[in-house]
Amino acid sequence: MTDQPTGRVGIVSLGCPKALVDSERILTQLRTEGYEVSPTYDGADVVIVNTCGFIDSARAESLDAIGEALNENGKVLVTGCLGMDEGLIRERYPNVLSVTGPQQYQAVMRAVHDVVPPRHDPYTDLVPPQGIRLTPRHYAYLKISEGCNHSCSFCIIPSLRGPLVSRPVFDVLDEAEKLAVSGVKELLVISQDTSAYGVDVKHAAGDWHGKPVRAHMTDLARALGDLGVWVRLHYVYPYPHVDRVIPLMAEGRILPYLDIPYQHASPTVLKAMRRPAHQEKVLERIRAWREQCPDLTIRSTFIVGFPGETEEDFEFLLDWLAEAQLDRVGCFRYEAVAGAAANALDNPVPAEVTEDRWHRFMAAQQEISRGRLAAKVGRTLDVIIDEVDEEGAIARSSADAPDIDGCVFLNGETDVAPGDIVQAHIEHSDEYDLWGRVAI
Ligand code: SF4
Repeated sequence: MTDQPTGRVGIVSLGCPKALVDSERILTQLRTEGYEVSPTYDGADVVIVNTCGFIDSARAESLDAIGEALNENGKVLVTGCLGMDEGLIRERYPNVLSVTGPQQYQAVMRAVHDVVPPRHDPYTDLVPPQGIRLTPRHYAYLKISEGCNHSCSFCIIPSLRGPLVSRPVFDVLDEAEKLAVSGVKELLVISQDTSAYGVDVKHAAGDWHGKPVRAHMTDLARALGDLGVWVRLHYVYPYPHVDRVIPLMAEGRILPYLDIPYQHASPTVLKAMRRPAHQEKVLERIRAWREQCPDLTIRSTFIVGFPGETEEDFEFLLDWLAEAQLDRVGCFRYEAVAGAAANALDNPVPAEVTEDRWHRFMAAQQEISRGRLAAKVGRTLDVIIDEVDEEGAIARSSADAPDIDGCVFLNGETDVAPGDIVQAHIEHSDEYDLWGRVAI
């Protein structure tokens, strides 16, 4: 056996959780082949930069990261969404060694082999069966499909990542079970469009522990709910069949949490965005969901300043928001993304108007969020511990996805460990977070 690793590879991972999962796949493959992962530029034989190309600010950040890796190390392989625009990258950085698009794991590995050839060593093939993850040990992202069949006019993801391709249901459940066995306590289900899962394979069933499970969001959620870990659904497109996962949340099989991007409320703007435009019905459905599952947390994202958005459209959105009382909301200022159909729309909204609307939107949502969190004071909630230091613990409830939502601060509670799920008595709130104590 050799005690020298095959080579050391650095990786810079930018972008959304889907890109993070791509980085994890690349890392898993590197470790499978005996490469070591270098945490510094200095120690790496080559650096992979996994880029994001979604909006202009993310493209700029990706280009900066490539420049930094070239300065610090010199041998750089670019992959990910920005890799679709190879001309742009090569024009700015002619010295990058290779450029590949998203999910091109094999091509990335070939490029690594060209710089640092693999050495066969059976002892370095040992990789934990759940693969290598970049998230903390107690939660993990579970990617169920790639691509998207929609054509929202502001989005270039379908042209970057192609149409929907669902992973076989057995593969998804097998990975989820391995993660649960390895100690993961929370699975975050991600894709471009979680509610479309299995549409491309006509919801073909797979065998799971002797029982058929269809490649369908409801069946998958039910089967994941049997693993005894928290299951959180992200990026759920507002299709009617979303109604069917609410009973699973009410029964406690999966977390009562829906991340469902509504993007706007005005029918005119939604039509221009090429999104479903029946907001009255959406309000009725939200009411019905909350009747069935009173603890349901709804997270959503919106875009303000979309071309053609009038003051009337924007006020419609604010009124709708007041009615909907969503729990967690993100708001983006519209940005013209190179290649998006929306760029050709008339009546762009001036930047200062977009800015003003963004502030008004955020102020309105802050008040809603403050009220909804205040209603939790005095309750006892299950929370998962993320971090502990000498001052106390930081946890999350079912209402809080990591990195994007709030926290539950447990000041002075040091007798817990990351991944523990404990009950917390909530004593205080503000517009984003909660404070409490571990309930005895
Ligand atoms: S559903 Fe999401 S990924 Fe698909 S086109 Fe619309 S915004 Fe883009």
